[in-house]
Amino acid sequence: MPHDLPKAYDPAEIERRWADYWVAENLFHAPTPKPGEDVFSILLPPPNVTGLLHMGHMLNHTEMDILARWQRMLGKDAMWLPGTDHAGIATQMMVERQLASEGINRREMGREKFLERVWQWREQYGGYILEQMKRLGDSVDWSREFFTMDERLSRAVREAFVRMWEEGLIYRGTYIVNWCPRCMTALSDLEVIHDETHGKLWEIRYPVVDMPGESIVVATTRPETMLGDTAVAVNPRDERYQHLHGRKVRLPLVGREIPIILDELAQPEFGTGAVKVTPAHDPNDFEAGKRHNLEELVIMDETARMNENAGPYRGLDRHEARERIVADLEESGALASVKDYTVPLGKCDRCKTVVEPRISTQWFLAVNKPTTDGRPSLAQVARDVVNDGRIRFTPENYKTIYLQWMENIHDWCISRQLWWGHRIPAWHCADCGGITVSRTTPARCEHCGSAKIEQDSDVLDTWFSSGLLPFSALGWPQKTADCDAFYPTSTLVTGFDILFFWVARMIMLGCHFMDEQKTDKRDIVPFREVYIHALVRDAERQKMSKTKGNVVDPIHVIEKYGTDAARFTLAAMAAPGTDIAFSESRTESYRAFANKIWNAARFLFMNVDRAEEQKLWSLNEFAAAKPWTPAASDCGHAAGVQGFAAAMLHPSAPNTGALGTPLEDRWILSRFNRVSGEVSAALGEYRFHEAAHVVYHFFWGEYCDWYVELIKPRLLSADRDEARAAFSNIVRVFEGALRLLAPFMPFLTEEIWHAVYNGTTPLKSIALAAYPRSDAAQLDPDAERDMAILQDLIVAVRNIRAELKVPQKEELPIEVFASPEVRALIEANAGALERERISGLKFVGESLAKASNSRATARFEVRLAYEQKIDYAAETARETKELERLEGEYQKNSSQLANPGFLAKAPAHVVEGLKKRRVELESLIETKKIRIAELRRKMGER
Ligand SMILES: [Zn+2]
Ligand SMILES: [Zn+2]
Repeated sequence: MPHDLPKAYDPAEIERRWADYWVAENLFHAPTPKPGEDVFSILLPPPNVTGLLHMGHMLNHTEMDILARWQRMLGKDAMWLPGTDHAGIATQMMVERQLASEGINRREMGREKFLERVWQWREQYGGYILEQMKRLGDSVDWSREFFTMDERLSRAVREAFVRMWEEGLIYRGTYIVNWCPRCMTALSDLEVIHDETHGKLWEIRYPVVDMPGESIVVATTRPETMLGDTAVAVNPRDERYQHLHGRKVRLPLVGREIPIILDELAQPEFGTGAVKVTPAHDPNDFEAGKRHNLEELVIMDETARMNENAGPYRGLDRHEARERIVADLEESGALASVKDYTVPLGKCDRCKTVVEPRISTQWFLAVNKPTTDGRPSLAQVARDVVNDGRIRFTPENYKTIYLQWMENIHDWCISRQLWWGHRIPAWHCADCGGITVSRTTPARCEHCGSAKIEQDSDVLDTWFSSGLLPFSALGWPQKTADCDAFYPTSTLVTGFDILFFWVARMIMLGCHFMDEQKTDKRDIVPFREVYIHALVRDAERQKMSKTKGNVVDPIHVIEKYGTDAARFTLAAMAAPGTDIAFSESRTESYRAFANKIWNAARFLFMNVDRAEEQKLWSLNEFAAAKPWTPAASDCGHAAGVQGFAAAMLHPSAPNTGALGTPLEDRWILSRFNRVSGEVSAALGEYRFHEAAHVVYHFFWGEYCDWYVELIKPRLLSADRDEARAAFSNIVRVFEGALRLLAPFMPFLTEEIWHAVYNGTTPLKSIALAAYPRSDAAQLDPDAERDMAILQDLIVAVRNIRAELKVPQKEELPIEVFASPEVRALIEANAGALERERISGLKFVGESLAKASNSRATARFEVRLAYEQKIDYAAETARETKELERLEGEYQKNSSQLANPGFLAKAPAHVVEGLKKRRVELESLIETKKIRIAELRRKMGER
């Protein structure tokens, strides 16, 4: 890469080239570290194999990549572990849909053939999101890529299951689960979406047995479930029902006698205060049923059709059954009333079918049971490690949320009725009914020796395998060197929505299984820190959703502005705990930032070329000085900008401060060191936004806007030593600033960094160079203070000139009131100030605070001596023209707002904007008229 960069910054070309290079060079492969080495490891929350990159990923990946690159450049063995999740239900649905389009049903096809198709699908489409990750520049270790259905990881899943079975932590039992009658599987709460739906509330009268005329009215949104009622509950405190305690009611239509039970399930404040209890078809009733030992009467089959327990309604679909039952209740006079009612209806996230709570036999993990070897329960340990700080949450409030959840956690239903996933390693015996759980496929029942055994048809919940990832992906159950070195991982960056489903489960399983491998119990946790990132919303702070049509596609943003600009936008907005309102205008401005750096590089190289032609200085001198320190070197980590050329300066050079080094050099070196410290401090606490702002301000504001301007004359100096020192210093600062920015904008900095070395870089990538560290010895508070005074002075004068609209070329006398020290500073830097067009300074002995055209700061007061010479005729003409323009706009605005056709079509915000503008215009026109009148008056005076 020669240093003559193309004129225009073209991120698409640059980014494609480096993304390929990083992968081809296997640049981010982290070999297993030796004991005692400083390690940073991080697990990628594996995207679904069916997934496509969305803005949430983009934020999550940007944050992780910044951390990984920063830590790598700090000299750590940084390992970022990538992989994909087999996503049981999502993938199965995808393939089922594909089959349906070919007119094939998976059940006709059979399990084995179906699984072949899924693997085929995965081969064909499953790698898409990984390709997108490469475009983002994710610095993951591709050599370690995993897939949760890999042979290796599947073995770990089986081992974990068998061990916990042997430990008595896994059991089979009946439980009420969310059931999708279409997908025919249990769903986790996460897979159920809740829709506010207009429904009805039916009130049904249940007559009390042996008390003619007495009845209890219960309300329900699902009348068909009454067929499965096994009790009616009233609250023990409810005086209305005191006289019915111990009685029974007769179920309408069915005739069955069921008890009246006393339970908190019934709340006197709600409805009649009495509720029907259907243990087999409602999760709360299920719990109540357990408390009162009620029969669990199942009235529907797995497809949500009424079964043999539904008597005359048998065979009806649940919706048909509802209609028939309501009609029959009405006819029999048992229907007390019907009301409109809004119901939060649970639907299957995949197929949108209404979920039916269903009692079924499932596999469970006992999370509240102490282990047989005397350790506390999984949930207890998972609470302990967070309580005692072995795992730290950022933002901190998630610790409380996590602990509250973990206090109320129930046994975890780990089985799913799917085909795609890790099949449960349990075999049922047809002869004795016994269950054989085994690491390898058994030939016979372990209880009776029968060969008539068949493997359980369920697969494990996807979260079961992903809960093992922090160690299974590192080679567990083997005791591997990777597990020793990289577990616990350093940090986990993830979203709030899977705190419980994934994070909590990794903590439970990690602490449980790694306990035997880690002698230091601080190391049993799967990660030492959890950073919960925010949500990316649209520019109006609305949640992005397909139905609203406000989803921003990250690939589209990348194509338009470049990955670097998109990454920087997200980083600059990623304040912990604050959602991001993503707007393209921000990305546009960070694209301008990238462009600014590009141009700064071109400016620098142009000057370097000239110096080379004049045999004054060349980039080879810079390269030979080795200003960078390779990240993994033994010599420790020197400060970011080494060998700053103070000694080379001519002692009598003009513009020289007390120390012999020009103020701007001492200042930029100090700022560089301070900023390096600030960036690392911010990243250490996940304050990505702060880190990004600091880098941005340093590179654009301090380097480009100030330093380059101040040092320019020295680059052109006739004094060879002075010019050589200036070249040496500016290239060093620039190269250091590239390294500072590299984790945020990896592509742009890589491109320019290679150019700085004219194509022969000392390392394969800037990503392997040392991250700038703050060196206290290079901090120079005096230089920073002095430079701030000069900058304030320059800015103050600029602002006054702008306000007065002083023509560019007009020189004006400037008066300054300051202490002798500040005066000395200003005088010592007269040269630099002159180049900023501050000359002819006159120091005065009295405050200028009250004078016109003045500014006051804590250190000085400044005033421009300016007599406004106005050409009244020209000014009046100009203002009159402006007035005409405003009046024209006002006309157009008014006619639009008066046009019903326009108003009917225009979006509300456009109309709103026009109305606002009209008010503005009215006031602007008024002001202009006054101004013109004033000008005319003054003209008349002359
Ligand atoms: Zn479904
Ligand atoms: Zn048997």
